[in-house]
Amino acid sequence: MEIDEDTIDLRSDTVTTPSEAMREAAATAEVGDDVYRDDPTVNELERRAAEAVGTEAALYVPSGTMANQIAVHVHTEPGQELLLERESHIYRWELAGAAKLSGVQTRTIDAGGRCVPTPDAVAAGLVSEDLHRPGTGLLSLENTHNYRGGVAVPVEEIEAAAAVAGDADVPVHLDGARVFNAAVALGVDASEIVAPVDSVTFCLSKGLGAPVGSILAGDEAFVDEARRVRKLFGGGMRQAGMIAAPGLRALENVDRLAEDHASAERLAAGLDALSGVTAPEPDTNIVVAHTDAAGVEAADLVTACKDAGVGCVEFDEYTTRFTTHLDVDDADVADAVDRIGDALASLA
Ligand SMILES: *Cc1c(COP(=O)(O)O)cnc(C)c1O
Repeated sequence: MEIDEDTIDLRSDTVTTPSEAMREAAATAEVGDDVYRDDPTVNELERRAAEAVGTEAALYVPSGTMANQIAVHVHTEPGQELLLERESHIYRWELAGAAKLSGVQTRTIDAGGRCVPTPDAVAAGLVSEDLHRPGTGLLSLENTHNYRGGVAVPVEEIEAAAAVAGDADVPVHLDGARVFNAAVALGVDASEIVAPVDSVTFCLSKGLGAPVGSILAGDEAFVDEARRVRKLFGGGMRQAGMIAAPGLRALENVDRLAEDHASAERLAAGLDALSGVTAPEPDTNIVVAHTDAAGVEAADLVTACKDAGVGCVEFDEYTTRFTTHLDVDDADVADAVDRIGDALASLA
């Protein structure tokens, strides 16, 4: 679907277009062949990205999905179990890549609104290797939790879950596609959220506003192996400084994520005030609106919103997601609430 100019596009924080500064950075980037480690801009981005999350090293990859799938591949052996949350992105939205690319079996834990499994739930989900059982190769957590509404999971809860896995010598990956949203919402440095885990994914192309790219970070040995798996998965890029340069600018956008969170809070309050709509106060930039009380299905709401000039996505039968981002200002939020109200009225 091509979105027209007047539409307030709240489908995702991936819809932002690069700023003039990012375009300028791309145009003037110093580049080289990154497969030979010759691209100074990529090297600089990987240094700065590692610094931003407090890891030894980092790897620039085309997407968050590839970052997660590389992490699964590096941490596990085929046939092992991957333990993750029932609504996690890796389980729900990555085309069963863990099964297809790494040959692992997934075991899910329903963490409910808590988003990260309790230590007891992790303990119960871990499988030790024996004559009949394959053993758990990896625990994966997610922060912010996308599907459950951009929930910022407190550091202590990540620590507690990771500690149980650590005691069993099972590595822990964090799908932190929006880890900086979590950090800003929790008022902590991203490195504190990442400290308890062995590897982390984060996206430059979401709230941070880069046109493309994600980061997979961890210790030197992990990133060395991840670099080989990136090549295996077809993600070795050449003069990638052209796209890494805007990524460097994107890292400057961390603090301003607070503005997106404030916008989301206003949006949720506006939607929650509409008859038949429940929109819980969000932690970060993702607003989920439930319309079961209004008897309005998400698929119909998405179509009516599109006609009324608001982009959003269906999350479940009666749940629709609206995401705030760099290209949405206060006036857009107010307009969006009016237009969504009109869309609902058209369905009544
Ligand atoms: C968006 C997202 C991803 C995947 O990122 P892409 O760059 O779209 O592949 C992974 N995990 C979570 C939690 C996400 O929200």
